[in-house]
Amino acid sequence: MLYRISLLITVFLFVIHTDVDAQTPAYKIYAVPFAHSGYPFTAADWAQGGSKTEQLDITFSIWLIKSSTGRCILVDAGFERDIEDAKEFQLSSYIRPDSALRQLGVKPEDVTDVIISHPHWDHIDGVNHFPKAQFWMQKEDFDYFVGRAWQQPKDTGGFAKRDVRKLTELNLAGRLKLISGDNQQILPGIKVFTGSKHTYGSQYVLVDKIKQPTIIASDNVWIEANIRQLLPPVKGGTLSPAGYIAAMKRMKTMVKQSKYIIPGHDGVVYKRFPAVGNGIVQIK
Ligand SMILES: [Zn+2]
Repeated sequence: MLYRISLLITVFLFVIHTDVDAQTPAYKIYAVPFAHSGYPFTAADWAQGGSKTEQLDITFSIWLIKSSTGRCILVDAGFERDIEDAKEFQLSSYIRPDSALRQLGVKPEDVTDVIISHPHWDHIDGVNHFPKAQFWMQKEDFDYFVGRAWQQPKDTGGFAKRDVRKLTELNLAGRLKLISGDNQQILPGIKVFTGSKHTYGSQYVLVDKIKQPTIIASDNVWIEANIRQLLPPVKGGTLSPAGYIAAMKRMKTMVKQSKYIIPGHDGVVYKRFPAVGNGIVQIK
């Protein structure tokens, strides 16, 4: 009888366990660099009160969240090299984001979802390279980006007209899902949050229910010094410095260690995690 009960308990626990697994797939997260700036930036150029001697390796990245069920979720889509705005960064290297991704065995058509953190050129100009993907963006960010930003007085810093056209096309094609606000679970084990105001409705992504809960902050944490010293970005980096700092404090409550808050442009990320080849690291 005792044996039977323990067998029943074992079967019961197994069922519960596999049920949880069925709801939340296992995820592997990668940071994929596709361009580097050759300009000798310091932390003070990006973070208010940052060090004038701390050299930065300003890196442009996309992030891949790969599920055990075959879903390939990107955070951001990078940019194409010919975009005018890239010039001031004096790029020292560039590979098209979809080509960078192939190094992980992921083809452009394998990408199922792209979560857009915000509509600046360096994060969305590459959207057309992912022909089968569903795009996710904050509704307020989209509305502002395609509408109000272009009304007088214009507020279009970091916005490219050609990207407005690209996102409008995606919307017309029914491939853009607009998310309504903060703390939304959009996919199993994947939530998005707002509040940093890097753009009107910029969002960051939390992958939880994995061993090391991880936040892909994108530009809601520009560089590592922002989160380390709780510094707001320099002018133009947020519509609300207080909101930016509050969001970083909140991020710290969602992860076990700050290194699992991945900033948008700091090359230090690529020194902190295990390399998997061609500059890519796995965040684990
Ligand atoms: Zn950026």
